[in-house]
Amino acid sequence: MLDAAFFRRWLTTAAAAVNREADRLTELDSAIGDADHGTNLQRGFAAVVAALDKEPPAAPGAVLVLAGRQLISTVGGASGPLYGTLLRRAGKALGDDAEVSAGQLAEALRAGVAAVAQLGGAKAGDKTMLDALEPAVAALGDSTESFAAAREAAEQGALATVPLQARKGRASYLGERSIGHQDPGATSSALLVAALAETAEAAV
Ligand code: ADP
Ligand code: MG
Repeated sequence: MLDAAFFRRWLTTAAAAVNREADRLTELDSAIGDADHGTNLQRGFAAVVAALDKEPPAAPGAVLVLAGRQLISTVGGASGPLYGTLLRRAGKALGDDAEVSAGQLAEALRAGVAAVAQLGGAKAGDKTMLDALEPAVAALGDSTESFAAAREAAEQGALATVPLQARKGRASYLGERSIGHQDPGATSSALLVAALAETAEAAV
C-alpha cells in the first residue's frame, strides 16, 4: 500500500528530475515552442515541494490535490494547468484514504490523463504530453512492479513524438516544421513517470 509519504517522495523525486533536466526541456521547447518549458516546471515543482514541506497532507489524495493546485497557480504556460489538472483529478479520485493500492493509483491516474485530454482537446498522436502519458497509464496495473513498465512506455512515447507533426499547443503553429523534434511536454511527462518508478523501487 502507498501512503502520503510515498506520494511526497514521488513529487520530491520528480522535482529533482525537473531541476536536473530543466536545460534540456527548455532546449526542446526552444526548437518548437518559446523556450520556457524547463523554467516553467522548475518554478512549479519548487512551489510543490515548498507547499508539501510547509503543511504535509496526511492522505495521498490530498498530496496530489495540493501539488496540482500549486502547478496551476505558479506555472505560466499551457503545461501548468494541464499537469495541475492531471494531479488534482487523480487526487480527487483517491479521496481521503490514508493508504491506496497500486491499482487505485493506476485508476486515479487514468482519470487524470482523461481530464488532461478533455481540457486540452488533444489526443494521442498530436505530439503532446499525452503521447507519453496515455501509454504510461495504460501500462499501470495492480502492482508497483508495473510502474517500471509505465516508465518504459512513457519514454518510448516521448521518443515517438519526434517524427510527428504538432496539432495542439504552441508547436502546432510551426506546422510541418515541428516534425523532427521531441515534444518537451512528452519528455517532462516521461520524467514524472520515471520518478514514480524510482520511488517505488527505492521503497522495496
Ligand atoms: P507553453 O506552450 O504555453 O509555452 P510549456 O512550454 O510549459 O507551455 O509546455 C509546452 C508543452 O505543453 C508541449 O510540449 C505539450 O506537450 C504540452 N501541451 C501544449 N498544449 C497542449 C494540449 N492542448 N494538450 C496537451 N498538451 C499540451
Ligand atoms: Mg513553452
